[in-house]
Amino acid sequence: MSSETIVIRNAAWIAAWDGSGHRYQRDGDIAFAGDTIVQVGGRYEGAADRVVDGSRRFAMPGLVNLHAHPHTEPAYKGVREDHGVPEMYDTGLYERMCAFVLDADGRRAGMEMAYAELLLSGVTTAVDLSGPVEGWLDCAGRSGLRFYIGPYFADARWKIDERRRLRFEWDEAAGRRAFEAAVRVMEEAERHPGGRLRGIVFPGQIETCTESTLRDAAAFARQTGRPLTTHISQSKVEFHEIVRRHVKTPLEYAADIGFLGPDAILGHAIFIDGHPDIRWRGGADLGRLADSGASVAHCPSPFARYGQAMDHFGRYRARGVNVGIGTDVAPHNLAEEMRLAILLARVMAADYRAVDTAEMFRAATAGGADALGRADLGRLAPGAKADIVLLDLDHPAMRPARDPLRTFLFEAADRAVREVFVDGRLVVENGRPLHLDPEGAAAQLEESQARMLVEAPARDFLGRAGDDIAPHSLPF
Ligand SMILES: [Zn+2]
Repeated sequence: MSSETIVIRNAAWIAAWDGSGHRYQRDGDIAFAGDTIVQVGGRYEGAADRVVDGSRRFAMPGLVNLHAHPHTEPAYKGVREDHGVPEMYDTGLYERMCAFVLDADGRRAGMEMAYAELLLSGVTTAVDLSGPVEGWLDCAGRSGLRFYIGPYFADARWKIDERRRLRFEWDEAAGRRAFEAAVRVMEEAERHPGGRLRGIVFPGQIETCTESTLRDAAAFARQTGRPLTTHISQSKVEFHEIVRRHVKTPLEYAADIGFLGPDAILGHAIFIDGHPDIRWRGGADLGRLADSGASVAHCPSPFARYGQAMDHFGRYRARGVNVGIGTDVAPHNLAEEMRLAILLARVMAADYRAVDTAEMFRAATAGGADALGRADLGRLAPGAKADIVLLDLDHPAMRPARDPLRTFLFEAADRAVREVFVDGRLVVENGRPLHLDPEGAAAQLEESQARMLVEAPARDFLGRAGDDIAPHSLPF
């Protein structure tokens, strides 16, 4: 943690927090002492150790990425974008996860690259949901980002049978050991010097954990004051699996076993009973979700690639559901994800008023922070953490900056990010991450991806080559 007082002098535009929402301020200072903001707007008259010229900058709070898998998803670049399975209602999730397994070197390279991408798209807090791997916490700590570390555990593994049905290989003893290992990783994260790493309790999927594991995970999260997350209502296959097991929707089941609550973050809550692709038994899920106080981690990209979408962002918000934004897949570019989330909400609603720039910005900042129980994140206000992103108003993609937030979301995205502070510490300077080496990691990721594809026949349920599961986009 820095102990300096830094002043961003005369920022041309500021997205300041007024206590209930973001609003523009012009030509003002932002001052922070150590990790905490002391002043937003006006002229800061106190002493400063360092002054940053803000006259050609738009200052905004760092974005919160509420759901990401930075270790493995970069290895699916060029593999998953056109991949789907018609027999599984188009989702390619299960086939891909069964056939393509990345080695530890590849996962370390993936995180190095993804963390850089997160910072460069303006993210200062990320929820990293990953299988524990050596070096994870060192890289997360070194990156300068603020993390919620979610080590994966589950009682069952997915398996696809010869008729393309999703099956489950249960091993509850292994699941219990993974839960205990996850607790140790979270505790280690929270002891990490710098204090920017916290744990989030992450039973992997609603359908791969036993009821007792889900109950224990929720109880453990509540006893220890950690947030709680899982994958739920993320595919039609999963929806029907839970209906078959319990004659309840996944959200109804989660509510009935006490999993839902204000500390629960649901990735992705798309296939709920009122969704037009589901339409099952009355459509009570949205109200159930809102009444529980749980938040949704909304990640439109992976679903859009299968031709699927939440129905719809504006409806969830109107019913009172807190929604934050995540990337889930590569690219780890939250700015682009926000743009897609706006556009898809408008298409699904057939109404441009379904969501506007201000509402989407709120979701990606205060919405994500609130989901994590953090009133000190996602806001530029005295007392909040000094997690600040400066966008370059001189970049051609930002000009004209008549409304710089709109220009960032709809046009410039990550190209405009110039400086990033986390906890008052500069971690991106002149558009470069200071503590990460994505170029150095790229060769390792390429090597590990090639191995992952070569090893696919031994894992795939039909013994197919990687290039047959996910063919190239153009013929050779
Ligand atoms: Zn996910």
